[in-house]
Amino acid sequence: MRPLAVFGGTFDPIHIGHLTVAWEAAELLDAEVRLMPANVPPHRSSPQASPAERVAMLRAALAGQSRLVLDARELERDGPSYTIDTLRELRAEQGGRPLVLLLGADAFAGLSTWNRWRELFDFAHIGVLSRPGVQVMRSAELEQEVAARRVDDVAPLRAQPCGKLIELAVTPLEVSATRIRELLAAGRDPRYLLPAGLFDDPALLAPYRR
Ligand code: ATP
Repeated sequence: MRPLAVFGGTFDPIHIGHLTVAWEAAELLDAEVRLMPANVPPHRSSPQASPAERVAMLRAALAGQSRLVLDARELERDGPSYTIDTLRELRAEQGGRPLVLLLGADAFAGLSTWNRWRELFDFAHIGVLSRPGVQVMRSAELEQEVAARRVDDVAPLRAQPCGKLIELAVTPLEVSATRIRELLAAGRDPRYLLPAGLFDDPALLAPYRR
């Protein structure tokens, strides 16, 4: 069955790093990929742009293609967005369809600090996306989980609904939203680090220029 992959993040703002790795994951897994902006990320400070502003940027970024779609359910929920709750909800909706949680290598390295992290594998597979320029230290318990669950081929991910881990070698792009916010705050114009659609309406990037 064609997997459903979920790529969460603050997307503050969405940039070409997110889009490239999500697109390539969709190809490698032959999956539908949903970009899911987080409301109150439990692990980090609040985004600079509001939920509505981040959704507007995502909509502009995703226009003109259908492989990557927006799923704003976490913004509609009160309180912190725990991934485990989102995956449980998706599992109830999708039946036995394979679900894949996509995480950049930096986000994955922090997994063992997440709420009920081991249970994530009861609901989904995990796809780890290579990311250059970030220091990653994985805990011993995370390494153990990787050793037990790792597969090198996508076939087992398509054959069962959850429980496996795959490392996806996507094109390394050393782009971060932090750097883009810094450039915009300094009055610079990071045109080619962001999808072209974000420049169509000057209001879209205004949260970072004020
Ligand atoms: P910030 O700089 O504000 O921390 P970010 O660029 O890391 O933001 P997030 O929205 O926090 O973006 O990331 C969402 C997901 O995208 C995470 O799993 C992260 O690891 C992944 N990601 C972001 N940028 C890249 C990239 N250039 N290559 C691979 N994965 C990425």
